[in-house]
Amino acid sequence: MKFCPKCGSILIPKGKNLACSCGYKEKASETKITKKGEEDKKIEVAEAGSGDVRSVIEEQCPKCGHKVCFTWEIQMRAADEPATRFFECQKCHHKWRDQR
Ligand SMILES: [Zn+2]
Ligand SMILES: [Zn+2]
Repeated sequence: MKFCPKCGSILIPKGKNLACSCGYKEKASETKITKKGEEDKKIEVAEAGSGDVRSVIEEQCPKCGHKVCFTWEIQMRAADEPATRFFECQKCHHKWRDQR
């Protein structure tokens, strides 16, 4: 909201201008160009990273040698980079990440 510098009343938008009852006129400030595209991208990355859907696979635990592990993927950085795969041993709960 803007006020008239002459009389202090609220300026009323009239077309592309702001006008006051005292006769004062002012060009309305141009609408802000928000970087909406960038904000949307950030949100997408955050949502992708929060996904923690685990599945069970056959993978040998490097610690105890158990052959069944949980696996899940986490998006570490940008969405266009490949996700990092994590493993957790079903038996000893040792965690490690894919070295590929
Ligand atoms: Zn005025
Ligand atoms: Zn283990």
